[in-house]
Amino acid sequence: MAIRKPKQPDIAEVPAPVTSPDIVEAEAGGLLSIDLAAIVANWRTLAQMTMPIDCAAVVKSDAYGCGIEPVASSLMTAGATTFFVADLSEARRLRALSHDITIYVLNGVLPNTAPAFADANARPVINSLTELAEWDAFVTSAEWHGGAALHVDTGINRLGVTPEDAVALAPRIKGEHHGGIKLLMSHLACAETPEHPLNDKQVRLFREVRLHYRGIPSSLANSSGIFLGPSAHCDLVRPGAALYGINPTPGKTNPMQPVVGLQGRIVQVRHVDRGDAVGYGAAWTAAGPSRIAVVAIGYGDGYARAASAGPDKPAAQAIVGGQLCPLVGRVSMDLLAIDVTATPEGVARRGATATLIGGEIDVDRLAGWTGTIGYEVLTRLGRRYHRVWTSGSEGNQG
Ligand SMILES: *Cc1c(COP(=O)(O)O)cnc(C)c1O
Repeated sequence: MAIRKPKQPDIAEVPAPVTSPDIVEAEAGGLLSIDLAAIVANWRTLAQMTMPIDCAAVVKSDAYGCGIEPVASSLMTAGATTFFVADLSEARRLRALSHDITIYVLNGVLPNTAPAFADANARPVINSLTELAEWDAFVTSAEWHGGAALHVDTGINRLGVTPEDAVALAPRIKGEHHGGIKLLMSHLACAETPEHPLNDKQVRLFREVRLHYRGIPSSLANSSGIFLGPSAHCDLVRPGAALYGINPTPGKTNPMQPVVGLQGRIVQVRHVDRGDAVGYGAAWTAAGPSRIAVVAIGYGDGYARAASAGPDKPAAQAIVGGQLCPLVGRVSMDLLAIDVTATPEGVARRGATATLIGGEIDVDRLAGWTGTIGYEVLTRLGRRYHRVWTSGSEGNQG
């Protein structure tokens, strides 16, 4: 069984998480804050729920857009020792932070990449028999003992060997020379919908496979999977989204702390009259005299163009002067427009900011307005923002 070790990993060189160096605050169209203390608090919440088993951290896609180095460093300091990334380049960025952590690469072994896993001391997640054969050949010839995970597909039909193949392989894998499988894992397709029958089916199927792998730790649950209860916990849980404040229990109160805040800079405030159109396609027309704040964030920053109003849907909103205000017209590449008529004169002004994520607008709410999920909102966060990694709530105001 994997028991969480309280020891502090040896962190080689923790980059002081402060700000993005090359994008100056005063010049930036968008100000992004990432609350590292909230990420750590969220990890601790999940670790407590799954005590005494191991709680890993999924930091793929640049830690869901939050920055792999500052996020992973904070989690290591809090005691996290197992991390999951998508590919080798992410694994190398993690390895540069610490020699002591265990790193799993979810997308597995691409052709001729096995030696690179040894170089980075990263463990591939073996997703097919072909990968297993290639890994086996490498492990045998290089006498590499760094280990790997075996992924079993129990119903998502994405990656992993079949349960039948996993069972057939078990005697060989438990013998000495077989890729050094250190973890048996599977992935849930519908964990955020607890009543979905596939959850039960996957839990039961995975349990059957695990019976053949006694002595090898197993892992099934992502963030939402943790909330399905102990039957999905196994020996190691793999939360990603919940660490970053995404609600792992959609439709219920979010048990996680918010992590990301996004402020957009107001470039100018325009007065328009009844009948005046705003933005490309003249898609919005003022019904009366209005004040429009033009903000220096657009879809080029990953703020979805789908935030614009559509034929059957209202536009997304922003918070200006403590008040929810609707976006008007189409989101363009570098700009968007907000109707601030309802705010007191002078609140929306050149240089001030509008909150696009923060306060009442959490990541899931913005995702709902733009027809997507919080995961996509976070992983698309743009590269032009002035980023600040905070270790308290000061950066995350509404
Ligand atoms: C991304 C991923 C996770 C983390 O999922 P969340 O829903 O973000 O918690 C866990 N396991 C696998 C295999 C993944 O691809």
